[in-house]
Amino acid sequence: MPDLIDLHCHTTASDGSLTPAELVRKARESGLKAVAVTDHDTVEGVGEALAEGERLNFEVIPGIEISAEIPSGSMHILGYFIDHTSSPLLAALRKLQDSRETRNQRIIEKLHSLHMEVSYEELLRIAGGGQVGRPHIAELLVQKGFVPSSQEAFDIYLKKGRPAYVEKFRLTPSEAIKLITRAGGMAVLAHPGSLNKSLEEVAKVVGELEAAGLKGLEVFYTEHAPEQTRGYQRIANKHHLIPTGGTDYHGDYKPGIKLGRGRGSLRIPYELLADMKKKMGR
Ligand code: AMP
Ligand code: ZN
Ligand code: FE
Ligand code: FE
Repeated sequence: MPDLIDLHCHTTASDGSLTPAELVRKARESGLKAVAVTDHDTVEGVGEALAEGERLNFEVIPGIEISAEIPSGSMHILGYFIDHTSSPLLAALRKLQDSRETRNQRIIEKLHSLHMEVSYEELLRIAGGGQVGRPHIAELLVQKGFVPSSQEAFDIYLKKGRPAYVEKFRLTPSEAIKLITRAGGMAVLAHPGSLNKSLEEVAKVVGELEAAGLKGLEVFYTEHAPEQTRGYQRIANKHHLIPTGGTDYHGDYKPGIKLGRGRGSLRIPYELLADMKKKMGR
C-alpha cells in the first residue's frame, strides 16, 4: 500500500466544515501522509493547520485556491508552498474579501427589493464565522421559507442573470498565478474537468497559462472520469507540468466526498508531492 495524500481541502476558513486543526487530525487518523489546506481566496486557516501539523509531526502543505475570472465563468488556481504571510498576497486577498462583503450586502438589498426580509446578521450567523458567500445566502432563503431548496435559490435569484445577482471583483487567471508565484508558491490549474472544455481546449488554456508561470495541473480529482484523468495526465506530460491531486474535501458540506478518497476510488500517491517539492527546490 503506497503512501497517500490529499492536496485539495477546505476548512472553516472558507466553506469546509472542519477547523484547520480538525482537518489535520482527520488526515492523520485516516492514514494519509500529508494534507494541503486550500481554502477559497483566503490563507486564514493556514497558520493553525501548520501549527497542528508541527505538533503532531504530520506534513501540512500551506495552500490556497483562488477563484479567477474567465469569460465563461470561473477558473480555480491552486497555490502550494505559499508564504501565507506574504504582503502582496495578503493585500490582494483583502481586496477580494472586501469586495465579497460589499457584494453580500448588495445582494441582501436586492432581496429586500424583491420583498424578502433577510438580514446581514442572519447571514453571518449561518456562515458561522468563516467566509460568507452565496451558498450561505441560499441556505438563509431556504430557512426563511422563500424557496424550497438551495439550488432553487440559485436558479431563481442568485445566479448570474437572475434578479439578486451581483458581480464581484475577481483576478484574472494570470494575475492569480503571478500572485502565488510572488508569494513563493507553485501555481496549479485546479480541476480542469470543471472547465467543460475538450482536451484540446484545455491543452490550449494550459499553454497560455504557462507563460504566466503555471507549474502544475490537478490531474487526479474526485469528479474526473478515468478518460479525463488519462487525458489531463498526457497534457501535463507534454507541457512538463507536475500532475497533482486532491479530493476537494469540504467535510459535512459535501458529504459524498471523503478525505483522501473522494467518492471511494481516488488514490493520490505521495510521489506527486515529492515531485512538486523537487520542482520547487524543497
Ligand atoms: P460565491 O463565491 O459567493 O460567488 O459562491 C460561489 C459558490 O456558490 C460556488 O462555489 C458554488 O458552491 C455555488 N454556486 C455558484 N453557482 C451556482 C449555481 N448555479 N447553482 C448552485 N450553486 C452554485
Ligand atoms: Zn468550496
Ligand atoms: Fe475549486
Ligand atoms: Fe475546492
